[in-house]
Amino acid sequence: MHPETRAAQAGTEPDAETGALSPPIHLATTFERDADGSYPKGYMYSRDGNPTRHRFEAALADLEGGTGCAAFASGMAATAAVFSGLRPGDHVIVPQDVYHGVRRLLRERFEPWGLRVTEADLSDPRTLGDAFEPGTRLVWVETPSNPLLRITDIRFVADRAHEHGAACVVDGTWTTPILQRPIDLGADLVVHSVTKYIGGHSDVLGGAVVGREADSVVFSAVRSAQRVEGGVMDPFSAWLALRGLRTLGARLERQCSTAQRLASTLAGHPAVAAVHYPGLASDPGHDVAARQMSRPGAMLSFRVRGGENAAMAVAGAVRIFTRATSLGGTESLIEHRASVEAQPTRTPRDLLRVSVGLEHPEDLVADLQQALAPR
Ligand code: PLP
Repeated sequence: MHPETRAAQAGTEPDAETGALSPPIHLATTFERDADGSYPKGYMYSRDGNPTRHRFEAALADLEGGTGCAAFASGMAATAAVFSGLRPGDHVIVPQDVYHGVRRLLRERFEPWGLRVTEADLSDPRTLGDAFEPGTRLVWVETPSNPLLRITDIRFVADRAHEHGAACVVDGTWTTPILQRPIDLGADLVVHSVTKYIGGHSDVLGGAVVGREADSVVFSAVRSAQRVEGGVMDPFSAWLALRGLRTLGARLERQCSTAQRLASTLAGHPAVAAVHYPGLASDPGHDVAARQMSRPGAMLSFRVRGGENAAMAVAGAVRIFTRATSLGGTESLIEHRASVEAQPTRTPRDLLRVSVGLEHPEDLVADLQQALAPR
């Protein structure tokens, strides 16, 4: 069955009590015990387990091809749960242009606590081998990367990680299981900021970790962090996330085809110095992306001739795109990325990042063309 079909029906099993197709939102924090002390319905306390959250977790695990899922209050809470399963002295490898929030989490929280971190260019298979050390426990993959859209071969990295006794974790926020299924390619965990495409409407903050094996050491540590540290996804967010899953396939189909069109327009524009989008045949990641993604995604970035001021002027001149951070909503966003990221950053100062929404493609093309026109 295609993932779009599964997504369209995600979590729609009729409610056992009423037959309702839209799942109930269970706000209860505590659940009744039987006279014999047991919990016959399987729920005891909402931090431990909540029926609405469970529906979302089961649906996302199914879509990713995993057997366990833990949903969190944000993508960063999910990310922190993965690293908190490690021990002081352990070593991890992360991409050079990893999402800046992950770099900040490691620098401000986990390095002072004793985690050792190496940043490597995971899109270049030759450099990965040198990054392993005794004690490497985890390789973190982001593909396409943020904001340079570098592509990493997930199967290659997962195989190398396993040879060194390390887990391979993929941040699937930009792709969702509709575009890429890291577990099929060998990953042990898939992390999501549900805030982005899964929520899909810029109105829910959430995160999730899907495990290939629910009882693996690496996923059990994530489940423990969820229950013990308590940064869980709340029931209403879980309901919104479930609703987002149901339209994910249709949204991404439209968003990816518009992104391809915008990337082609930008690639031929005299005011644009470079376009980063794996759907372009000229992109260095094109072949690997074509192999491991069903479509090249709905995010792209481009560099404006003339440097930072010229890039700022383009962002300042758009009329349909909204100048805002984040991604994955119905509205198209444009962002001067370097000035948003925690410093120091490797992001070029002339780069603008685009999240493609659901507007008519011709309106978006025309808006970028007028914003890039000489003034
Ligand atoms: N991972 C990626 C790739 C992201 O883009 C983001 C947020 O922008 C996150 C993780 C963090 O997610 P959240 O903002 O939901 O904490």
